Amino acid sequence: MSNNVIPRTPSAYDYQLLIKNILYCPVVDAPDQEIVYRTSFRYTYRELRQRICRLANALTDLGVKAGDTVAVMDWDSHRYLECFFAVPMLGAVLHTINVRLSPEQILYTIDHAEDDFLLVNGEFLPILEQIRGRMDTVKGFVLLQDEPITSPTTIQFCGEYEELLAQSSSTFDFADFDENCRATTFYTTGTTGMPKGVYFSHRQLVLHTLGTMSALGTSAGQGRFHSQDVYMPITPMFHVHAWGMPYIATMLGVKQVYPGRYVPDLLLELVEKERVTFSHCVPTILHMLLRHPHAQRIDLSQWKLIIGGAAMSRTLCLEAMGRGIDVFTGYGMSETCPILTFAHVTPEMLELSPEEQASVRCKTGRSIPLVDLRVVDGSLSEQPRDNVSIGEIVVRAPWLSQGYLKDHKASERLWEGGWLHTGDVAVRDERGYVRITDRTKDVIKVAGEWVSSLELEDIIAHHPGVSEVAVIGLPDEKWGERPLALVVVRPDHPLTEKDISHHIRHYTDSGLVNKQVVLLKVRFVELIDKTSVGKINKVMLREKYL
Ligand code: AMP
Repeated sequence: MSNNVIPRTPSAYDYQLLIKNILYCPVVDAPDQEIVYRTSFRYTYRELRQRICRLANALTDLGVKAGDTVAVMDWDSHRYLECFFAVPMLGAVLHTINVRLSPEQILYTIDHAEDDFLLVNGEFLPILEQIRGRMDTVKGFVLLQDEPITSPTTIQFCGEYEELLAQSSSTFDFADFDENCRATTFYTTGTTGMPKGVYFSHRQLVLHTLGTMSALGTSAGQGRFHSQDVYMPITPMFHVHAWGMPYIATMLGVKQVYPGRYVPDLLLELVEKERVTFSHCVPTILHMLLRHPHAQRIDLSQWKLIIGGAAMSRTLCLEAMGRGIDVFTGYGMSETCPILTFAHVTPEMLELSPEEQASVRCKTGRSIPLVDLRVVDGSLSEQPRDNVSIGEIVVRAPWLSQGYLKDHKASERLWEGGWLHTGDVAVRDERGYVRITDRTKDVIKVAGEWVSSLELEDIIAHHPGVSEVAVIGLPDEKWGERPLALVVVRPDHPLTEKDISHHIRHYTDSGLVNKQVVLLKVRFVELIDKTSVGKINKVMLREKYL
């Protein structure tokens, strides 16, 4: 490195990239804009700022100080949004607990993160009761409450959230500190072994906000997130900060709608009544919403929807487009804060047929600003951008977790060779669009040839009788592995293995997929196991069906 560091006048202000600047120096200052919680509560950005100060005062009075960890167990709420700001703005670390983990795993994450205080929604008290005697570090509990508590509890609370806020001052002078301080931590939803902790600094979250906002805000044809939008998350706030979107929404000064626990009726009602125009979710949720009877009578044509967390099938994409939804893919992982790519379509592509557009919207996407994403072979050399050469996605970006909390070995593996290894296998085309074909752990090798489980799932999902499908590799003496499709059939549409084979043969005969897929075996199942964030749980499926 050169020694050409810029000189600094001693009195010059050393601006740190801190989360408070997202709140206080936004793109649009909108004091009268609304924040809505379900159908029960609404207030303005002016009050949001005051409540963040009140929360900071309340937490300080409880004894929270810089460097402490404050954990939250809640569904998506205005309270959570307040914690997204107040906790890190105090210099403390916000631990967003995945409430869908098992009680033992939750206990593990609380101990491992060394949580000092825990803000808990009354709904989760039964979980807490099971583990509370074994928590080593928690000094105090705060109750978050929508309804009066009905289940008996032995937990002594420091106070109830609204009461604590009401007693506290609405001003707070948030100090400056080093932008590299840890702001948040949470645990991967890994299905083998105990979850692993990742962590992000103020600087990383601010840069993620700016990078993602510029990618979304500069799309010319579709999928633009701008100040006139109404935002509602449908990926949980406990999982990768709801993809960091609440920070972007706040910086844009848009109306924000928080739906609490995800109940399909209520989600659709909020989309309709609050005129939600921008959301994000995993494919399973979109599938569930489109199947819901209420979805048929609601106008969804103003809704922009990012699908991520798992690949979106063309069938699902076309169905959503058919309802007028501007649907497209986003990609990332817990370790990457998370956003790495978006599959926006260009204005010229909007002239294409829905089928042709869907092929682009379902790709994994193009990297967003500041993300150096490469598809590489085993020696980290970049693969040609020919849409055929397969390799692992590795990345460098300013907002990647620098390791796993207290897990040196796994951190070294994650960052082998100075690149963050995603474990995702992909191809890239000449325009830079990446398409994930599998997880490294999920690839199926039939007679020495790679078969993409995602591609196969996409083809099978195209059959009108298929409601859901997951493909895993089945060990086979002759072929090494054979693909096994687990299929949930639509109630009104009986199906046989032959129907599926016939359907697939059309694709193999026309050379659209690897001919090895004819070795596919099919098993009809009642349901497909999902992870705690609603993705197909292939580890569990392999355990169950192999
Ligand atoms: P998680 O850390 O639980 O958010 O999971 C991250 C993983 O989900 C990634 O490494 C991918 O395997 C998968 N994933 C996320 N987004 C996509 C996408 N758009 N298409 C395919 N897989 C995805």
